[in-house]
Amino acid sequence: MNPNPPAPPVQTIRNSDLDLLGIAPDRPLVIVDVDEVLGMFMAGFGDFLAGRGLEFRVQRFALFQNIFRPGETDHLDVLEGRRHFDDFFRLGAADMTPAKGAAAALRGVSDHASLVICSNAPPAARLARARWLGRHGMDYPLMLNVGPKGPLAAAMAARTAHASAFVDDLISNLDSVADASPQTARFQHVADERLRPLAPSKPDLHRRIDDWPTLADAIIEAISR
Ligand SMILES: [Mg+2]
Repeated sequence: MNPNPPAPPVQTIRNSDLDLLGIAPDRPLVIVDVDEVLGMFMAGFGDFLAGRGLEFRVQRFALFQNIFRPGETDHLDVLEGRRHFDDFFRLGAADMTPAKGAAAALRGVSDHASLVICSNAPPAARLARARWLGRHGMDYPLMLNVGPKGPLAAAMAARTAHASAFVDDLISNLDSVADASPQTARFQHVADERLRPLAPSKPDLHRRIDDWPTLADAIIEAISR
């Protein structure tokens, strides 16, 4: 998850990049986020910060406002938090624990659909991210994105005549997909049990399913209509 990045530039979507994803025109498409969906991002970031003598306190559904020096009540300066966040992607994200049931669920979904992993990780993290996915049995095409994911999801969904589905932990990305590609079924998934009660939801707009076996069944049902 990455709820409060600075205002992002608009992503340029290149057909040549989309070509590499192998989206089959005659199959449904499922687009899945990584952090806090396939991987335990908050837990991994917390461990990384602990290694630097800092504390990550799960007090709200946010990133930089949850980083503290031990014993202090004011969170770390947001710019300094941002630096640790970028470092985590470069140096620490390879150790992230996969979300329970995620790999098996993706295997099941991939019997019914093309699958693309769509992550808002910084470009420098691409190789580590792809290796992490492969090491944990989730070696599907990876697309990095900047900013809200709706435009990219719409461009990917346009490559098939069949149904599409999108999974993310963040309402901002789910709303963006609802705007740009309203026919795409949307699911919110929050992997970390500590975050679940803190994560904002819009269940009338985006179905919220926090366990992967149930989510996989719901995705398959949505794309089989
Ligand atoms: Mg995420």
